[in-house]
Amino acid sequence: SNAQSLTQLFALDSLLEQEEIDIRDTVRKFGNERIRPHVAQWFEEAKLPARELAKELGQLGVLGMHLDGYGCAGMSATAYGLACLELEAVDSGIRSLVSVQGSLAMFSIHHWGSEEQKQEWLPRMAAGEAIGCFGLTEPDFGSNPAGMRTNAKRDGDDWILNGTKMWITNGSIADVAVVWAQTDLEEGSKGIRGFVVPTDTPGFSAPEIHSKLSLRASVTSELVLDGVRLPSSAMMPKAKGLRGPLTSLGEARFGIVFGAIGAARDCLETAIEYSQSREVFDKPLAGYQLTQAKIADMALEVGKGHLLAYHLGRIKDRGEIAPEQVSLGKLNNVREAIAIARECRTILGANGITLEYPVIRHANNLESVLTYEGTSEVHQLTIGKALTGEAAFR
Ligand code: FAD
Repeated sequence: SNAQSLTQLFALDSLLEQEEIDIRDTVRKFGNERIRPHVAQWFEEAKLPARELAKELGQLGVLGMHLDGYGCAGMSATAYGLACLELEAVDSGIRSLVSVQGSLAMFSIHHWGSEEQKQEWLPRMAAGEAIGCFGLTEPDFGSNPAGMRTNAKRDGDDWILNGTKMWITNGSIADVAVVWAQTDLEEGSKGIRGFVVPTDTPGFSAPEIHSKLSLRASVTSELVLDGVRLPSSAMMPKAKGLRGPLTSLGEARFGIVFGAIGAARDCLETAIEYSQSREVFDKPLAGYQLTQAKIADMALEVGKGHLLAYHLGRIKDRGEIAPEQVSLGKLNNVREAIAIARECRTILGANGITLEYPVIRHANNLESVLTYEGTSEVHQLTIGKALTGEAAFR
């Protein structure tokens, strides 16, 4: 057909360096060839061959790809974002695996950890030979992690960790958990510290959470810490207070700004293709004005979402990005992506409700993406605070 792609219409590649385009194309190829043929089945069966996949993602070079040294690829933030976009175009669960490994677990160790912790974990994690998770959320504390009850108490030189974490991506398959806990080193949430916990430490267990209807191609778990004894060297020396976990979350959230747009693009491309071949009332659905209005409106949002992501990528590459700017991208791009997924579902009619097409899978996945890494409401409050100077969180 003489139809243009979204990339052509928005001249998106003109905003990227050749190296970034090459990385994007490599990750897209991996996603389409290695993951796409299986992902609907993984979603349906809620079974992810995570260990195998982690090694392949390690070989692809996307685990901790924006970190320097220790076997990491040392790429730009924009290149990392593009990789997230292409992985999430296949499934948000796969992007979640990569985000949690690279941005939450590896970034935390890289940014806050001791030299010994970095040497021990980062090369293996970059290769996908060790899997990491990041435990901040608790059953009673999600949006407000300052209230966390998990605690670390001194016993001689050792630390003893007790508590429960909830909704932890990669939890049951992790070799290492970055766990945030209250200590009495300082008062209140200033006393929060991060610990690098090998998951084979006695007292650590991670039962998987079942019956999810979203992110089924992703492992989500509870972490139970029952008197987990750790040496004094297990605490990450450089993270003090909530700034530790919140900085790490900002890294993963940045990847979601790009990732969500990948899911939206995949839905829109699927819907356009479907509308070209599906005949209703004796002609292709694509030839009807209502369909074209839907497609045009969605294309505007997918295009603008790319522009916003690329813009934030450049700001981050200059080292100038502020948390509220990442909030702009996360709020907008996830909210638009979920709206687009639902609108595309209408174009597919009944076929849109099955796993034969990626659209309802993306729509369901995006429910989690809307909630994790700061809910859309928390990002509204963050942006509201930036613009008014008033904090309305409580
Ligand atoms: P709550 O904080 O209880 O919020 C409930 C509702 O109240 C939301 O709509 C929220 O926006 C709203 N709300 C909260 N505060 C305000 C306010 N001040 N004003 C108005 N409304 C408000 N966590 C980790 O630590 N590590 C992980 O790897 C991880 N992976 C996850 C994977 C999945 C699939 C999911 C679903 C979650 C994951 N999470 C993880 C947890 C996630 O970060 C939390 O679910 C999220 O922070 C929201 O917390 P909550 O679910 O407790 O909701």
